[in-house]
Amino acid sequence: MSVPGTKSGEDWLQIGEEMHRWIAELFPICRSITGNGVRETLRLIQKRIPLTIQEVSSGTKVFDWTVPLEWNIRDAFIKNLRGERVVDFRKSNLHVVSYSRPVNQRMSLAELKEHLYTLPDRPDWIPYRTSYYKESWGFCLSHNQLLQLVDKEYDVCINASLTEGHLTYGEYCLPGHMQDEVLISAHVCHPSLCNDNLSGIAVATFLAQWLGSQPRRYSYRFLFIPGTIGSITWLSRNQQQVARIKQGLVLTGVGDAGPCTYKKSRRGDAEIDRAMAHLFKHSGKTHSIIDFIPYGYDERQYCSPGFNLAVGCFSRTPHSQYPEYHTSADNLNFVTSQSLAESLSYCQAAVDILEENKTYLNQNPHCEPQLGKRGLYRAIGGQAGEKSMEMALLWVLNLSDGRHSLLDIAERSNLPFQTLAQAASALMVHSLLALGPGHELSS
Ligand SMILES: [Zn+2]
Repeated sequence: MSVPGTKSGEDWLQIGEEMHRWIAELFPICRSITGNGVRETLRLIQKRIPLTIQEVSSGTKVFDWTVPLEWNIRDAFIKNLRGERVVDFRKSNLHVVSYSRPVNQRMSLAELKEHLYTLPDRPDWIPYRTSYYKESWGFCLSHNQLLQLVDKEYDVCINASLTEGHLTYGEYCLPGHMQDEVLISAHVCHPSLCNDNLSGIAVATFLAQWLGSQPRRYSYRFLFIPGTIGSITWLSRNQQQVARIKQGLVLTGVGDAGPCTYKKSRRGDAEIDRAMAHLFKHSGKTHSIIDFIPYGYDERQYCSPGFNLAVGCFSRTPHSQYPEYHTSADNLNFVTSQSLAESLSYCQAAVDILEENKTYLNQNPHCEPQLGKRGLYRAIGGQAGEKSMEMALLWVLNLSDGRHSLLDIAERSNLPFQTLAQAASALMVHSLLALGPGHELSS
């Protein structure tokens, strides 16, 4: 496996396998936008990173929205009159439309059918449906299961509660030298779905664990929130702190085998947008970069015009472009250890760019300094990288006039950022380079 950074392919594979095993632990939990499934998920994340769990009461006004009633489910089934469960929540939590109101009654098949959802084109798959903001109830089942419902009447039970309670989210802050923050956001509101939900949770959690052991210029804020209402709630409660967020990524759908996709922030030219584009370009792999659209995940809220944060969305195959999306086929087989590891490696490489993207000043700007006598020319890097290291030294010296950051230089020179960062640190050692204005305190 070829991934950016210094870890070997074997190391990455092990990390990917560990993420996959952890996803398997989280998979059975019935999550929704509120309720005990979210709490249980956050507690499992808490075993890895010291997350703070926040509870916000139902009825709380959050901008134009209201925190909904809390939903919890214990059991649900459709039984035939012989008492056999023909649809059973215990077999898959996707069988119940999320936020279904409680039901307990015998009804005709015709009446029941108005509340059943299937995918006729994918007759073995169970769809995933929600009804958060409109009181209703329903069951999702495979189309083949539906075809077997031939009795006149069925006993239908959804043992759920929809009551005053809380919306729960998790927050983890890692302080750095600066108050300026990088936001990493993942949604935690989907039940047994792997790519859409669990892959983002896993990559965000492992990224947080890694960052905990790294020196940090930026501060980092990780949010594990229910989609849409969670980011709206967080933004509404933290308006004083929002201005600190300088960069950010929404992580979702980062475990399927498809190529990487980056959706730019609404600004389009933010540092994070450029860092992701740079990484993709130098990966040598198929990828796509798409412009911001006001549809998708929580980047919609972070990039709403009142905030306009530099937050993009990193995924692999976009959600609208894989048939397994929001179905029972988005399962443990759909997400691969390799993709999880590679996605994590991109996040780490993006963090490295944000951390190291500084502006320098050439201390010997009148003609080129003599690199050979300092052992810098044809002396740094391995055989294959020699030429690009020499070019990197020359580019960094030439453009370090206090007006070009390393990322600017990377884009102009078409050299990998990490090569330029290595060149800059070698030039610093030889006092040929000094940090530019604004970096004195944060270096
Ligand atoms: Zn989804």
